[in-house]
Amino acid sequence: MTQSGWTLVIHGGAGMMTRDRITPEQDAGARSALGLALDAGSAVLAAGGSALDAVEAAVRVLEDDPHFNAGRGAALTHEGVAELDAAIMEGTGRDAGAVAGVTGTRHPVSLARAVMEQSRHVLLGGEGADLFSREHGLEQAGQDWLVLPERRRQLEELQARGAGAFDVDMKYGTVGAVARDSAGHVAAATSTGGVTGKRWGRIGDSPLIGAGTYADDRAGAVSATGSGEYFIRAGVAHEICARVRLAGVPLRVAADAVMADVLALGGKGGVIVTGPEGEPVWSFTTAGMYRGRAGSDGERTIAIYGDE
Ligand code: ASP
Repeated sequence: MTQSGWTLVIHGGAGMMTRDRITPEQDAGARSALGLALDAGSAVLAAGGSALDAVEAAVRVLEDDPHFNAGRGAALTHEGVAELDAAIMEGTGRDAGAVAGVTGTRHPVSLARAVMEQSRHVLLGGEGADLFSREHGLEQAGQDWLVLPERRRQLEELQARGAGAFDVDMKYGTVGAVARDSAGHVAAATSTGGVTGKRWGRIGDSPLIGAGTYADDRAGAVSATGSGEYFIRAGVAHEICARVRLAGVPLRVAADAVMADVLALGGKGGVIVTGPEGEPVWSFTTAGMYRGRAGSDGERTIAIYGDE
């Protein structure tokens, strides 16, 4: 790509996405939402905007869309509550912000950005993060907006399987975006409801800088999705960037190797990555991943299944 080119890659989660498990309506709805998210982020980048603004814009679209497990339509806790996690990071100064277990914000990714820009902290959790959200004027959304009947049904189905049952569906995913802007900077953002039936304040990889989200202009930007506990243990997002920066490994090779490492630990999922040269990469060890990419070279792809 040219020096002034831009790249945007987005995901809507990785999991058991096969043609026999996804209805035509789900397929079409998810593709159209991914298209709108690509449009929102691309508009920012095409106008010369920052990677940071682009990833936030793309993720906000997906947070509002009920097809994905983030914002409206998030997976529910054991108690039936939407507890949302999100993170955002920019690659120049490695500024980052994140929230975990928030229950009253329409766009957790924007709350994560407010933590980054309007506090001295990186990660806020629970009631404190909800309070920060209200105090900083973030758009509030009640559980009546965030919780959808389909997610209640999934929770009930899971609970009917008995204690110990864990996120059976793996079909509605976390959302994320990575971008490289025309100034050569990268950024990443991830937003999720976590896993269905989570308890005890469980937090996954998505809001943890270095696990589910990372950006460093010297290496690239990464947003992950999958079985978060394994992604935390492998330090996925930072590990990919470290391999690129310290070992000179190409992004694709680093992403595939780290996904293989997660698989060896027992975890599955995927990542989207873009580097300082704007190369778009995705890598996943699940049947499918909701994903899309767009670029200043005219590239525009939306896909769900592994064979696309
Ligand atoms: N990684 C997320 C979590 O563990 C879930 C997902 O990506 O579907 O919270």
